[in-house]
Amino acid sequence: MNVDLKYTLDLMLEILKINSPGGDTSEAIERLEKEFESFGIEVKRTNKGAIYGTIKGELEGEERLVSAHIDTLGAVVKEIKANGRLKLSNIGGFSWNSVEGENVYIKTRKGKVYTGTILPEKASIHIYSDVVSQVERTEETIEVRIDEDVRSEQDVKDLGIAVGDFVSFEARPIITENGYIKSRFLDDKACVAVMFAGIKYLIDNKLTPKRTTHFFISNYEEIGHGLYGIPENTAEILALDIGTVGQGHTSDEKSVTIVAKDSRTPYDFGFRNRLVQLAEEKGIPYRVDVHYRYGSDASLAMLQGVDANFACIGMGVDATHHYERTHIDGVENNIKLLIEYLMAD
Ligand SMILES: [Zn+2]
Repeated sequence: MNVDLKYTLDLMLEILKINSPGGDTSEAIERLEKEFESFGIEVKRTNKGAIYGTIKGELEGEERLVSAHIDTLGAVVKEIKANGRLKLSNIGGFSWNSVEGENVYIKTRKGKVYTGTILPEKASIHIYSDVVSQVERTEETIEVRIDEDVRSEQDVKDLGIAVGDFVSFEARPIITENGYIKSRFLDDKACVAVMFAGIKYLIDNKLTPKRTTHFFISNYEEIGHGLYGIPENTAEILALDIGTVGQGHTSDEKSVTIVAKDSRTPYDFGFRNRLVQLAEEKGIPYRVDVHYRYGSDASLAMLQGVDANFACIGMGVDATHHYERTHIDGVENNIKLLIEYLMAD
């Protein structure tokens, strides 16, 4: 099977560079709308701003839905401090240590974008050598230094920056010569790229999936909203979301993880087993894993009471919700298993 890795990585890098913190995903969604349209797939939009495109299947009924989320971690301006720095409130679950020193984009209500950096209040070791490494990084102790001449709250307000403005973290995507992909927000933009690579494979090879399949881009996963506004006839949901690589986990950056259980729910054994069998039959490197603190579009949908079967697969990713890393092989294996699933009974 020849999947188009160049296309996949180009799209991945492009969307990694579009800021899309939960609550402000419209620019990325519009970009992906164009991607669907480039394949001649009509795009539907939910009231909440998620989108999906549908490819008709060989057989009627038992429709499938494949999801990946475009929303990422981020923050909003919580408070403008008297010294012209910003306090933040987090969007999604991450530790403030993981974004210390990161460059950010502050988007005003009117759409103007300023840059800045997340720093501890006491950042300079020359000045605070006694405390700099001891102070816990929290919403109270970190701040944003805006790259403008601001010394007071009023200076910041004069720029048009206000409480509630979205703050996005620089993703910093890099692909190394030996195939490692490093970036923030590989969760879940790597999987979004995998989804489109699967679509492209079907289109390029003039293949019809076994069942009518809806390809869904969700936009509030990191907050735990799950899936909403999905097509009525959806019989099963396959979430594409990252496998967590680390101590006590089987996931691997070069393999595709098939999730047995996350912190919300065990996944259906029959559906998981179909995916394992496909991986084995087709020689696709895979790991079955149990995720410790984790929910996916599929497991969250189950908690909402959606009556559909559900599973979750994704490439293994190291240091999730920090500066993440995966490998091109893991991306390729994820695409292959997705395509096998789309074509299988
Ligand atoms: Zn995710």
